[in-house]
Amino acid sequence: MRIANLGGRAVLVVGEGAIDIAGASDGRFGPDPQALFDDWAAFAEWASALDALSRLSSSGEAAYRDIDVTDLGAPVPRPRQVFAIGLNYAEHAAEAGYPPDSMPVTFTKFPSSIVGPDAVVALPEGHVDWEVELVVVIGREAHKVDRESAWDHVAGLTIGQDLSERITQMQGSAPQFSLGKSFPGFGPTGPWLVTPDEFADKDDLAISCALSGEGMQSSRTSMMLYDVPELLVRLSAVCPLLPGDIIFSGTPSGIGNRRTPQRFIGPDDVLVSEIEGIGTLTTRFVAGG
Ligand code: ZN
Repeated sequence: MRIANLGGRAVLVVGEGAIDIAGASDGRFGPDPQALFDDWAAFAEWASALDALSRLSSSGEAAYRDIDVTDLGAPVPRPRQVFAIGLNYAEHAAEAGYPPDSMPVTFTKFPSSIVGPDAVVALPEGHVDWEVELVVVIGREAHKVDRESAWDHVAGLTIGQDLSERITQMQGSAPQFSLGKSFPGFGPTGPWLVTPDEFADKDDLAISCALSGEGMQSSRTSMMLYDVPELLVRLSAVCPLLPGDIIFSGTPSGIGNRRTPQRFIGPDDVLVSEIEGIGTLTTRFVAGG
């Protein structure tokens, strides 16, 4: 299943269109996309039956409507906790000058930075950089989970950009990851949440991004040093992961800060991020902010 936030309402994506979840469930689920995670298991069971029915009836639903991409919001608009992982691909850790760590480097992107696909981000002063990442959405509370059951706590996957202003991030004697990555608009996510059952191999997805047409990052999520189950094990050993929380799982190599010459995002740049089986996330930039 694919679940999107269309104009602030939760929808099931079917083919090229959308079914309004509150409408189709007589108000049992939605319309707030964040509210789906309050009872995700019941919602997923209801939605998978509707999804199968809708595919059979080829958009015969009264609530069916076309998706205007510019109307899509963040699939998880108000997560209570946003986890982000640094240095989770060996080539990226090497380009950043760090040895592989014995614990995933963990920080947060403050929730006010979260926006949807097709966002227009006003560039703050400094060096704004890209980081395409697989974003994991929690569907069931996870506390001290083991590897074997980890995926059972995942509602789905989406694409994220961990936009980073490098000067703020690197100032001072210890890095300011959380602040440098939390300017308004610095957490584009979307275009929708895709449930784990939709993927042939959910642990091995092509991941890439291009800045104004030039390929910048390209890898596979199987190259993560700590894969999705291991991230849930390590994070949930400390913090209960709550339904509707999200985890930015780290970026592959190819960031602008470590290129020769360095390259950063400028006004009028367009950043297109892509993950196999999910789709594309387009982020536009303007001056100021
Ligand atoms: Zn990152």
